[in-house]
Amino acid sequence: MSSSRTLAGVLAGIFALAVGIAPAVAQDYPSRAITVIVPFAAGGPTDVIGRIVGDHMSKTLGHTLVIENVVGAGGTTGITRAKRAKNDGYTIAMGHLGTQAAAPALYPNLQYDPVNDFEPIGLAAGTPILILARKDFAPKDLKEFVEYVKKNEKTLNMAHAGVGSVSFTTCLLLNHILKVKPTSIPYQGTGPSMNALVGGQVDYMCDQIVNAVPQVQGGTIKAYAIATEQRNPSLPNVPTSKEGGLPEFQASAWNALIAPKDTPKPIMEKLSAALDKALDDEVTRKRLLELGSDIPGKDRRGGPALAALVKSEIAKWTPVIKAAGPTN
Ligand code: ASP
Repeated sequence: MSSSRTLAGVLAGIFALAVGIAPAVAQDYPSRAITVIVPFAAGGPTDVIGRIVGDHMSKTLGHTLVIENVVGAGGTTGITRAKRAKNDGYTIAMGHLGTQAAAPALYPNLQYDPVNDFEPIGLAAGTPILILARKDFAPKDLKEFVEYVKKNEKTLNMAHAGVGSVSFTTCLLLNHILKVKPTSIPYQGTGPSMNALVGGQVDYMCDQIVNAVPQVQGGTIKAYAIATEQRNPSLPNVPTSKEGGLPEFQASAWNALIAPKDTPKPIMEKLSAALDKALDDEVTRKRLLELGSDIPGKDRRGGPALAALVKSEIAKWTPVIKAAGPTN
């Protein structure tokens, strides 16, 4: 057989695969468990939100969504892994404001492009940001916190989940507003940094509400303010930053599911529809709302809305991060 005929045969085979088998594969999808890369440690907001929506999506899809915590570099290690994963719908990831919108301004050599290297499945939850501290931290309200942190910055430790994380980025904004540079202590997620805060090994941190509600309610940590326009029903006694006298500090984060670039459209549609269904489910909603998260309405769900959010959040946070200056 001539080499050109061999080549034609190979091409025909590839064509058959593309047009014949690929749709069948998408139709049967999923036929086994789906890995969800959570780029932070277990027990933190990204992990918790991933598990809550994953539980319901598993029922819809008929196969388990298995969480894999791939930690490091403020969540960028896990998202890089997701970018390199096979785009067959069996590996997806739970990204967030940090990994998908803040990281590009903080990592000149970031190994992924949040806009072009992923397919958006949808927004899973909005998560207001709180200013938190260990329970015996001296200041009794936000006004005192501001004075105290300004006076004692040299001796204070601020916890976060690594450069590029939400906790890092939002406290970067807070510290910039207060003109302070405390010692920054990175953890592999705010699950572990919350443990350090509860244990009194660090002084303060900024974090997504999901991590904080049980601890604030239980009195094991303090919450000075929520950085949104309105108070949150899950923590009605925590004042807004505006009420507390620091209206410049406004920050709200979010978590969202993404898939590697060019994951087939029928698979993307199944994943987006399963997430949508989870967000309509009463039990799932209750679990998310109890933790203070904001459940996206229909207009903020799905791929196109997430793609637009990622772009607008990059545009919003890049100048904030640049203005805050060197990050160490
Ligand atoms: N909330 C964390 C952050 O600061 C990460 C986590 O979910 O553990 O980005």
